[in-house]
Amino acid sequence: MESDGEHSPPHACGAGHRASHSLPTSAGGSVCVSCAAALLSSASAPSHHVSHVLASLSLALADPAFLAPLRAAHPRLLAVPLVEALAGAAARRDAALATQASDLAADLASAVGPPAASELVARLAHVLSSGSLVKHLHMVRVPLLRATLC
Ligand SMILES: [Zn+2]
Repeated sequence: MESDGEHSPPHACGAGHRASHSLPTSAGGSVCVSCAAALLSSASAPSHHVSHVLASLSLALADPAFLAPLRAAHPRLLAVPLVEALAGAAARRDAALATQASDLAADLASAVGPPAASELVARLAHVLSSGSLVKHLHMVRVPLLRATLC
């Protein structure tokens, strides 16, 4: 094992992502943001899996042990996956999931602050202005966009 183990960091996640992407939580565990991002971006992930990741990230964002390294090292890492999760939820006409994704986007934007927050809002605005999503999202509460675009 040791002969081919030069790329095995001590705290890498099960999927083999970089150890620096596994951020601690105050409960003693860790959340791999690369795994979370991959699941959010996956068009084939079941809605309840995406919902679970969104809920986990929502809890983690309220945890200073997780938020501090996220803000310092990976403030943009979740922006595109979150936008893709929102687009995926809209495509499935899953209003509850879309609301959850937009709520988390608002939480993330306020957690990371500018300039990463501005980029996140711009990405969301771009997706929402592309037209195909608007008809699916008109019923969805989008507090972040209501606050920033009106
Ligand atoms: Zn991972």
